[in-house]
Amino acid sequence: MRTVPGVDPAPCLVLDAATVRVDDVGPALARLTTGWRLRIVGPQREVLLLRAAALAHGALDAEITVEVVDRDARTVFCAHCHHLFPTSGGSVRCPGCGLALRVADHVSRRHGAYLGEPA
Ligand SMILES: [Zn+2]
Repeated sequence: MRTVPGVDPAPCLVLDAATVRVDDVGPALARLTTGWRLRIVGPQREVLLLRAAALAHGALDAEITVEVVDRDARTVFCAHCHHLFPTSGGSVRCPGCGLALRVADHVSRRHGAYLGEPA
């Protein structure tokens, strides 16, 4: 984690998905005060998960900007058993329940994942 003064009009905390884990987000946000902004940088899969963690810890959409550097890997949320798992394909089999899923375009803010619908 690092801060970049001058990048934004407001002070900004940058979360680099290469070095920050989901469990690090809560303690990082607890140190911030009103007016701070959050920038999350990295591959789409990790950025969405970190963004979901930030929202869960009280950050607002307007306080978060993201920079995605790779869109290949995604996390899928199985609509049947609610299992979260990584994938890079559009049609997958859920490792939780074994159901064949089609990866929809819908992204859940809460889970930081694409919806996997029964195929
Ligand atoms: Zn499932």
